[in-house]
Amino acid sequence: MDIRKEITQLKAEKNAIILAHNYCLPEVQDIADFVGDSLALAIKASETDAEVIVFCGVRFMAEGAKIVNPEKTVLMPEPDALCPMASMCSPDQIISIRSGNPDAAVVGYVNSTAAAKTEMDICCTSANAVNVVDSLPQDVVIFVPDANLGAYVQSKLPAKRIIFWDGYCPTHQAITPAMVRNLKEVHPQAEVLMHPECRPQALELADFIGSTAGILERARSSSAQEFIIGTERGIIHRLRQENPAKEFYDFEVAICPMMKMTDLTSILDCLRHERTKVVLDESVAKRARTSLDRMLQLKG
Ligand code: SF4
Repeated sequence: MDIRKEITQLKAEKNAIILAHNYCLPEVQDIADFVGDSLALAIKASETDAEVIVFCGVRFMAEGAKIVNPEKTVLMPEPDALCPMASMCSPDQIISIRSGNPDAAVVGYVNSTAAAKTEMDICCTSANAVNVVDSLPQDVVIFVPDANLGAYVQSKLPAKRIIFWDGYCPTHQAITPAMVRNLKEVHPQAEVLMHPECRPQALELADFIGSTAGILERARSSSAQEFIIGTERGIIHRLRQENPAKEFYDFEVAICPMMKMTDLTSILDCLRHERTKVVLDESVAKRARTSLDRMLQLKG
C-alpha cells in the first residue's frame, strides 16, 4: 500500500493528529493535519480532541504538546531530533542568573527544554515575544536562551532593560549580513523577510521581521512579486504553494538538520508501533505548564 494511504488509515484508526512545523520536509508538511510555527502548534495541541498527537519537529515542541496535554499520547517519530539552541540553557543557569537579578522577570523562548521551562516566569515564541515582554510589570527582564531574539525585543521595547543569555540558533546565525547584501544585489526588487533569530546586523537589512507565520502572512499580503527569505529553508515549500505566481530566494546555509530528520517512513513507523512516546516527569511537566499557560492566556 502507498505509504501516504497507510499513514492516513492508521491515523484514523488511532484517532491521531499529525502536527508539523513549517521547517519540516515538504512531504511531511503535506501529510500533516496542521502546519505552523511554534505558537500555532502549541495552541493547536492545546485544542485538539485527538487522543494521539504525532509531533513532527524537534523535541522541545513535542514536550510542549505533552505539557499542555498530559492525558494524551504524544509521539515523536524522531526522538533524537533535538534543537541545539534548547540545549544552550539549563535550569541551573537560569537559577544562577535570576539570583543575581532578583527583581527581574524571566522570559523564556519556547525553544527550550521542559526542565528549563520550570524556572521561567512566562514563555514566548518569536511571534509574540515583544507582546509577552511588554505585558510584564517588571522593567528588567532576563531573556533566555536566544540572544538575537532578545536583542530584537529590546529594539522594540527601549523602556525595558533586557538581560541576555548567549544562546543562538546555528541555522539562523549562519545567515550573515554579507550573504543578505549579496542576494539583494542579485534581486534588487525583492522584499527581504527575516526571522528575529537572525543576527541583528542581518536584521538591519530586512524590510520585514517576523516569525514564520508572520513571514507567510507578509508574503501573501505584500504587492511585491519577489522575496528574499531569511529563515530555515523548509518554509519555502509553503510559500511557493500559497503564492505560485511569486518568486522566493533563500540561503543555502539555512538548513536545520534536526528539522529534517522526520520523514514519511518514520511517521509510519511511529503510528504503527506507537513510538516514541514523550514521557515527562510529572512535577517537571506541572511546573513547565505554568509558564506555557501564561503565554497561551495572552494569545488573544
Ligand atoms: S531552526 Fe534553530 S531554533 Fe529551530 S529547531 Fe533548528 S536549531 Fe532549533
